[in-house]
Amino acid sequence: KGKRAFIAGVADDNGYGWAIAKSLAAAGAEILLGTWVPALNIFESSLRRGKFDESRVLPDGSLMEITKVYPLDAVFDNYEDVPEDIKTNKRYAGSSKWTVKEVAESVKEDFGSIDILVHSLANGPEVTKPLLETSRNGYLAALSASSYSYVSLLKHFLPILNPGGSSLSLTYIASERIIPGYGGGMSSAKAALESDTRVLAFEAGRKRKIRVNTISAGPLRSRAAKAIGFIEKMIDYSIANAPLQKELSAEEVGNAAAFLSSPLASAITGTVLYVDNGLNAMGVGV
Ligand code: NAD
Repeated sequence: KGKRAFIAGVADDNGYGWAIAKSLAAAGAEILLGTWVPALNIFESSLRRGKFDESRVLPDGSLMEITKVYPLDAVFDNYEDVPEDIKTNKRYAGSSKWTVKEVAESVKEDFGSIDILVHSLANGPEVTKPLLETSRNGYLAALSASSYSYVSLLKHFLPILNPGGSSLSLTYIASERIIPGYGGGMSSAKAALESDTRVLAFEAGRKRKIRVNTISAGPLRSRAAKAIGFIEKMIDYSIANAPLQKELSAEEVGNAAAFLSSPLASAITGTVLYVDNGLNAMGVGV
């Protein structure tokens, strides 16, 4: 039977989350999305108006179907944790049940279970600041949105993840090598995410036979990456220096995600898989 996937972190058709959804849909999976609450209205109206129809085209010519879009703010675990100013914020008041626990409950109510969980989200309010100029709040916010959000998602979805299922996230090599410009504690957040991938692989593997991996992706011109401000430089650098001298497409990451989510990867867990044209293997630029 077809598998069901929940992909957190899709709010347009430019990012890795969208490409992962497409590759999973092309492989026959049913697609559920979690979209950041402040971005939900634009995303849903664009979907309805057909703005994404061209990018919904799958290799067989059909359009990717999105069964349901859930509002999500992965910084909050349950409604009791949400501060008053967010509860009453205009951009949040129009939606409900968008904390991680509530979304997992809604998915359970609607569909019973899922087979594939994807975390394709990150946020660091001070990402443009060097680490030495990052505030405690900025650092903790980066970890909360980009690392703990994954722990929380997996924790709350684990009871409805079917045994044999797969969970994955997206990381970046700034966790282990110096990438000036990837600041605000985002490099720290990715280091935490990669370490957590190993510990969570153990815990979720033993508890429910779930595999946990992360894809270390090369640079892509996504909305989030543009906000960092150095994406063109990173893309040019990769094309100039990587073993494979081509621009990385989101689809290549999507396909790797589909592989990791499939039975073809049934013995792969706790790993960081580089999907970056090989740039990680270089010691110097040439
Ligand atoms: P993107 O903008 O498509 O995705 C980021 C998403 O996170 C957005 O949809 C945003 O709305 C969502 N988001 C932010 N805060 C959230 C919150 N609190 N709750 C729920 N959703 C929230 O950009 P992307 O670059 O495709 O990012 C996806 C993942 O890929 C991230 O983990 C990112 O770090 C990683 N990544 C990106 C690159 C790159 O060059 N673009 C490289 C390596 C890894």
